[in-house]
Amino acid sequence: MDANQIRFAIFLAIFLLMLGLESVIQRHPTVDVKTRRLKINLALTGIDILVVRLFFGAAAVGAAQFAGERGWGLFNYLEWPEGLETFFCVIILDLMIYIQHVVLHMIPFFWRFHIVHHSDLDLDVSSGLRFHPIEILGSMLYKIGLVFALGPSTTTVLIFEAILNGMAQFSHSNITLPESLDRLLRYIIVTPDMHRIHHSVEKEETNSNFGFNLSVWDRILGTYVPDALKPQSRIVIGVSQFRTSEEVSFKNLMMMPFRKVPQNYSLSPEEK
Ligand SMILES: [Zn+2]
Ligand SMILES: [Zn+2]
Repeated sequence: MDANQIRFAIFLAIFLLMLGLESVIQRHPTVDVKTRRLKINLALTGIDILVVRLFFGAAAVGAAQFAGERGWGLFNYLEWPEGLETFFCVIILDLMIYIQHVVLHMIPFFWRFHIVHHSDLDLDVSSGLRFHPIEILGSMLYKIGLVFALGPSTTTVLIFEAILNGMAQFSHSNITLPESLDRLLRYIIVTPDMHRIHHSVEKEETNSNFGFNLSVWDRILGTYVPDALKPQSRIVIGVSQFRTSEEVSFKNLMMMPFRKVPQNYSLSPEEK
């Protein structure tokens, strides 16, 4: 099996596991038809994969190889032991992805694309894959820039991507964890209950809990909201502009960034 096949196998295993768990320990009641949303979110993923393949191939891993051959980037210069490098790189990359996420909410132009992710009326494992192809392209370019600056090994990049994908599926899943386990996990990682608050229609809640893997960035940088105004099972998921399934059809999602809609979630001060 090559790296891509391993990545896909891990993705599929986590996806099916979460989907199965959602059917037995569902946390939040759904408002939209699950199969309908699954089809839309998976169609978006399919397009995202095609677009990335078309423009970049195995971009981030390729960039790591390219930088490694030329000795570019911090860790190619430091030449630390592999394990130590991987440990620090994964943490730094996670912080950089946190910052990217804050910027996506802060700048109205970026929010136009990121709103596609937030427009899902329910959250489940498939929501972790729901991104506009242009946001995915932008993220890829950002990641390549980070890889050039940091100079991680190809293994480190593969490990980081596997963790990021796995965690995105976990944190978006609609599963119930015992309260004590949730609180314990939250000291270190982002849990489904923590990320669900980020998908609330309440603006203050949407603009909180930006973390992907580690929950520490939100705590340290003051964006952590431990509890929503409403109890978890009654959090209204999505954005206020789009409340019906017709408004978030596949076609509308693709066109969403280019339509004139009030950008009332942006963190930017000019946008009210
Ligand atoms: Zn967001
Ligand atoms: Zn999300």
